[in-house]
Amino acid sequence: MREATKRIGACTLCGEDVFDCLARWEEVENLKFPERAYLAGQMKSVGRPKAGATRITFLLASGEIADMTFCEACAEGLSEEDYGELWAIAVRSWAEELIGERPDWFHEQMRNSILSEVGRRAWEDIHG
Ligand SMILES: [Zn+2]
Repeated sequence: MREATKRIGACTLCGEDVFDCLARWEEVENLKFPERAYLAGQMKSVGRPKAGATRITFLLASGEIADMTFCEACAEGLSEEDYGELWAIAVRSWAEELIGERPDWFHEQMRNSILSEVGRRAWEDIHG
């Protein structure tokens, strides 16, 4: 089974769509850019947030902050036990996008981790 990565417009943890999808990347488009094949089926154009879509802000071990998006159920059920898997999903997603390149910032993020949640907002409030 393919390990989970972050999908555009979807919950970071379960992969369920949390935004309306206006258009998706097609396989045929990715044939022109085979290194972007991982985008097939992902959202190409993101619409309005669905009810319950939540943006959670985390403090990282490096002192940086990071925002991640979740569906209502994952946001409500999120606990510190999920932080390791969440960060692994983020790192795998960067690895996929970087297509073999491994810049310094990537190695730094591989050593990074989530320390704590510092805030959350409903995407419907952010969008206005
Ligand atoms: Zn979810």
